[in-house]
Amino acid sequence: MATYLHFAPAVALAVALGPRRVGWRLMLAGAVCGVMPDLDFLSVMLGFDRYSGTYGHRGFTHSLGFALLIGLVGALWPAGSWRRRVGRGAFLALCTASHPLLDSLFNVHICSAWYWPLDGQRHCFGWRPIPARGLYMFSQEWLLMELRWIGVPLLVLANVGMLLRHLGARWAGWARRNPPHPVPVPLTTTAEAQGPRARRRQRVRYMNAVALAWMGRRAQRL
Ligand SMILES: [Zn+2]
Repeated sequence: MATYLHFAPAVALAVALGPRRVGWRLMLAGAVCGVMPDLDFLSVMLGFDRYSGTYGHRGFTHSLGFALLIGLVGALWPAGSWRRRVGRGAFLALCTASHPLLDSLFNVHICSAWYWPLDGQRHCFGWRPIPARGLYMFSQEWLLMELRWIGVPLLVLANVGMLLRHLGARWAGWARRNPPHPVPVPLTTTAEAQGPRARRRQRVRYMNAVALAWMGRRAQRL
């Protein structure tokens, strides 16, 4: 299990998507969702279930069903337009699902109940590449291993997202400086009269102009 970086996917996703899509409050909520599944320790400590039970450690809180539930709560939260709500729900669901995903990549400890509530059994990944066997969880070696296996890929993800946003903004600027061609009236009677080749050429020109106009309108909205 990851010990230190369960909050990091929320931060990386927020940086990748940009502050207009994910504000700092939502990022913070995502970070909490990324850590929250480990609260299942309480259920073991309070005696609700045994360690490896469905409601024990890495049980129902480490499932896709739980992540969807959190996403649903985020989407139903009464604030913002429906588009914002869907985005918020998807972001929180992703952050919650990132927790069992990271846990499952370590080659130690029990597996997660991925398919709860359909199935309370634990399912392991066939590929568990993070070599944690023999390391103490609260050691410097463990921290360095998490930074290498989780921190570095997330840093790459955040930077790729930022780069794509930057390129998108540049493209939008270019499109703004080069306003879209007006959409012509399709197939004039002269083209009709000039035969199939003229009609084909005009159809291609028309489709190009429609595509440019559509791209221009999208660029205005970016
Ligand atoms: Zn966990």
